[in-house]
Amino acid sequence: MVDYLIVGSGLAGISFAEVALLNNKSIMVIDDNSQSSSKIAGGLYNPVILKRFSEVWKAKEQLEIMRSFYETVESKLKSQFDYKKPILRKFFSIEEQNNWFTASDKPSLSPFLSLSLVTKKYEGIDSPFNYGEVLHTGYVDTASLLQSYKEYLLHLECFREETFDYSKITFGDDCIQYKGKEFRNIIFAEGFGIHSNPYFNHLPLDGTKGELFIIKAPMLKLDVIINTSVFILPLGDDLFKVGATYNWKDKNDVPTEEGKVELVDRIKEIINCEFEIVEHFAGVRPTVKDRRPLIGTHSEFTQIHLLNGLGTRGVMLGPAMAKALFEKIEYQVPLDKEIDINRIKPKHYIR
Ligand SMILES: Cc1cc2nc3c(=O)[nH]c(=O)nc-3n(C[C@H](O)[C@H](O)[C@H](O)COP(=O)(O)OP(=O)(O)OC[C@H]3O[C@@H](n4cnc5c(N)ncnc54)[C@H](O)[C@@H]3O)c2cc1C
Repeated sequence: MVDYLIVGSGLAGISFAEVALLNNKSIMVIDDNSQSSSKIAGGLYNPVILKRFSEVWKAKEQLEIMRSFYETVESKLKSQFDYKKPILRKFFSIEEQNNWFTASDKPSLSPFLSLSLVTKKYEGIDSPFNYGEVLHTGYVDTASLLQSYKEYLLHLECFREETFDYSKITFGDDCIQYKGKEFRNIIFAEGFGIHSNPYFNHLPLDGTKGELFIIKAPMLKLDVIINTSVFILPLGDDLFKVGATYNWKDKNDVPTEEGKVELVDRIKEIINCEFEIVEHFAGVRPTVKDRRPLIGTHSEFTQIHLLNGLGTRGVMLGPAMAKALFEKIEYQVPLDKEIDINRIKPKHYIR
């Protein structure tokens, strides 16, 4: 009998796969490429919500777990995925500068917001009001991480490319059968694909579409990440990842003209040199109204679990949420009430 059948190999699914393997559990992972959020993500991690100047929920804890998670995966797969890089907030006025210094006085933010102004001039950007630097930041190359992890799982013979068929589950006494095989548990990690899942599609995961570009800008000389209304992330060879938009109406992975216009306008607010759009991507983030992940076990079928709702921060949240769910299943460690699917009021339960 296999310990875990994992549906989805985005950031959530591979995080759980890795925690399970590290704990000597057997796994099988299924994915059908129907969602692309993790693959196309900016991959940034940043412990501060710059728009509201507040600390990301449990940022220190998440950073610690993610550091050791990506380090372990890097050494196992012999590739680099986690690139530690400063994130700079470009100021557009003295008032914005002042707001930064007020925020950096808050005890929760002082470990993360540098008190020194960054006055360096980057070619291709006018910055009369300079920058503030967020500390403990960087990005994970999610596309290459997911590809390498999939190859690793294929090598272990525990990955299958197929669509999960929910009608093919049957429940035994202490196992689940799926297409002739026995599993102890199923972890559903389908991101926005949760809407096809009859066990969990009553949960309030709305999804927020995001679009981003890869641009080529030979005159832009930048070795740090700039994050204002959009982020600009240097990839080398004059290429930059730029994103992202937030659209609450569209729920598909198709890049749009509207998204393109918005991103071009935003880029022009930050840089003053020419650029060419090389690629244009879109994906749907698995966002939840109360901005907390959806983690837990089905109320009726106790071998069925959910790892979803990573929202806009899958890179930081994935490893921490996978660990929390694993410890809940294996050692009955209670989940934090804020992430537990039991927090969702019964009126949502229509099953
Ligand atoms: C434009 C954009 C920019 C972003 N930037 C960042 C960023 O900078 N930093 C950050 O931390 N986060 C970012 N995010 C958010 C991040 O991508 C998400 O938090 C994360 O990808 C969610 O991961 P997931 O594994 O839950 O979902 P997904 O990545 O959607 O993965 C779900 C997987 O399940 C598979 N699946 C679904 N249904 C089935 C089925 N029935 N059968 C088989 N397989 C199935 C899908 O094919 C998919 O591979 C961004 C997202 C977008 C769209």
